[in-house]
Amino acid sequence: MPRFAVISDIHANLHALCTVMEDALQQQGCTEVVCLGDVVGYNAYPRECLDYIRSLACPVVKGNHDADVSGGDLTRMNPVARRAIEWTREQLDEDACLWLKRLSYQRLERSLFTMVHACLDQPMAWNYIMNANDATASFRKQFNSLCFHGHTHVPRVFVYDGMRAAEDAEAMMTLQEEGEVSLSLADGYKYFINVGSVGQPRDADPRACYVVYDSDNRIVTFRRLTYDVAAAQEAIIAAGLPTPLADRLERGV
Ligand code: ZN
Repeated sequence: MPRFAVISDIHANLHALCTVMEDALQQQGCTEVVCLGDVVGYNAYPRECLDYIRSLACPVVKGNHDADVSGGDLTRMNPVARRAIEWTREQLDEDACLWLKRLSYQRLERSLFTMVHACLDQPMAWNYIMNANDATASFRKQFNSLCFHGHTHVPRVFVYDGMRAAEDAEAMMTLQEEGEVSLSLADGYKYFINVGSVGQPRDADPRACYVVYDSDNRIVTFRRLTYDVAAAQEAIIAAGLPTPLADRLERGV
């Protein structure tokens, strides 16, 4: 009876990751963890977060920051993100960089669901899926009923009925208000679900976000968790990383 914790965009935020994993493993009874990429970048604990994820020996796909840290071209990146990537490179040894470099872009997990960081139509282009229109191209490349993704750091649920994609915005409103929302997946539809971000949420809600998936009953539950934002911010400043990276955590942007 697998019960998955689906986590994404940890971004070296160890305080958020520990809070999420405690909830997933102790409170929610998750038996498996899968990670949709961007383990590193932005925050102050890349080595620790990477060691933690590697110690789980769980399925992980590659995010754009994972790619950038392990050898990507930084010239087109904005200066703040670039500074964080350069700093992160200094923190990681060759073995850690190689591990990131070898991650695959997408993966089918036990025929139950697909994992990808950004989108399925061009996984290496890191397109941002902002609305149902954007999701349509990805749905055309989605050959099973469920795919989890991340990348925008905004939790979202897209549903495809074979003709058109639609967004369940109401469920995400409930998530912001209540800190949790559960969805039963219906037969005959495809779902493309953004699990939000553990370490740098951007939907104006600073709480860490992740998903619990009960694959037997096909129930997806979003969780929002308050974590020690101040401690994560202090670590960013102490590391000499750009201060906007600390400021944004408390605003969830
Ligand atoms: Zn990210």
